Amino acid sequence: MTELRTLKVALLGCGNVGAQVARILIDDADTLASRAGARLELSGIAVRDVDAPRDVDLPRALFTTDAEALVKDADLVIELMGGIEPARTLILTAMRNGACVVTGNKALVAKDGPTLHEEADRAGVQLSYEAAVAGAIPILRPIRDSLSGDRITRVLGIVNGTTNFILDQMDSTGAQFADALAQAQRLGYAEADPTADVEGHDAASKAAILASLSFHTRFSLDDVYCEGISSVTAADIAAAKDAGFVIKLLAIAEKLDAAEAGTGDTGISVRVHPTLLPREHPLAAVHGAFNAVFVEAENAGELMFYGQGAGGKPTASAVMGDLISAARSIVLGGPGRAETTTGQVVALPITSAVTSYYIGLDVADQPGVLAQIARLFAEHGVSIEIMRQTIHRDADSNTESAELRIVTHRASEAALAATVEAVKGLDVINSVTSVLRVEGV
Ligand code: NAP
Repeated sequence: MTELRTLKVALLGCGNVGAQVARILIDDADTLASRAGARLELSGIAVRDVDAPRDVDLPRALFTTDAEALVKDADLVIELMGGIEPARTLILTAMRNGACVVTGNKALVAKDGPTLHEEADRAGVQLSYEAAVAGAIPILRPIRDSLSGDRITRVLGIVNGTTNFILDQMDSTGAQFADALAQAQRLGYAEADPTADVEGHDAASKAAILASLSFHTRFSLDDVYCEGISSVTAADIAAAKDAGFVIKLLAIAEKLDAAEAGTGDTGISVRVHPTLLPREHPLAAVHGAFNAVFVEAENAGELMFYGQGAGGKPTASAVMGDLISAARSIVLGGPGRAETTTGQVVALPITSAVTSYYIGLDVADQPGVLAQIARLFAEHGVSIEIMRQTIHRDADSNTESAELRIVTHRASEAALAATVEAVKGLDVINSVTSVLRVEGV
């Protein structure tokens, strides 16, 4: 048997994910060598504190605080430190020195993907980041490779486990947002500072990456419209449930033709916001902290990818897949392109987004109200699919109020916003209780 060559692997970070990657590299060395066509030698692990306790028992001699020296002497670099700096500089240094890079750093790829890809192209090395979107779920490579002969039209993703856990708790127990968040924190699904998750920033990074690969155009975080879930109330969830919907935080990237977008250009709407989905939609069945990505393509039709979106071991699985692929590219003598950017489509503003809407209204219980509201919607070109009225009687005050729930057909965000403003001006409207976007109807 011919002797396999050895590739040096530098690991940056030994936290939740890094420790599991180190374990696999050491424990499964022989299997990995047969899959990669080269022995993968863990040459060192860069951390801040070499004496900190680790989840996995690892040789002390592997640890260093000199990350820069480590990356300069590696064939493959795995970046699992997180944050923008020094991760960005270390990745660029590694690629300039001819190393292939694997990272799970969605924040960095979404913020500075173009710079990283340009350096990878210039250096002729592979840059991959399957772990950056939806943890263990193989989604970037299917989009980039398996679907490269198709045209993707839309991607809908539940890509943040923390927010899915919170919304699922609210849906199943009737809890308010703050109580469901506290529960997520107690169980370790949410950080002490949950802002990046609950305000949608983490999902927005992933939306930018999904949109870039799906539509062969580089989109950055600035192209993503983002609304989180902190203002979703128990009443919103209950009303949605009553109408046959579930509320999910979705990362959406969809192609709109010029007529739909109203901009004169075909473009891509990239956005993150709480979204109503019919309970029978496949994404509605994604519970707890699980992730799933629903892809629509012209020829493949509808596809769904489901699994664990975070956690040390699941995320390490995605990192190892990228590492083996990068090692093979070195063994076979060519990096292969990590992405294509020939799409050249524009990112559309949120006002061009086209979707259905759910609108909750507190209205006066008097004759002619429904007709007035329906007329206003028609005047703004927003057609109503479902309109349902519920009368509430308050026994104490002996008064009656009416709650109106409307689901529209697809309409532009701009038309909907104008309609809602006009509706607010009607004397018969007490308040607009909710306006939420709807997908999958
Ligand atoms: P983590 O537990 O916080 O670990 C970070 C590691 O990086 C620690 O070992 C830390 O060293 C080291 N580090 C941080 N800054 C450093 C610096 N300036 N110099 C040297 N070492 C430094 O992070 P994680 O949860 O494993 O996540 C790693 C990456 O994977 C992040 O980009 C994250 O977004 C991504 N990711 C994570 C998950 C997940 O489930 N955790 C899922 C998908 C993607 P010390 O230990 O000495 O402090």
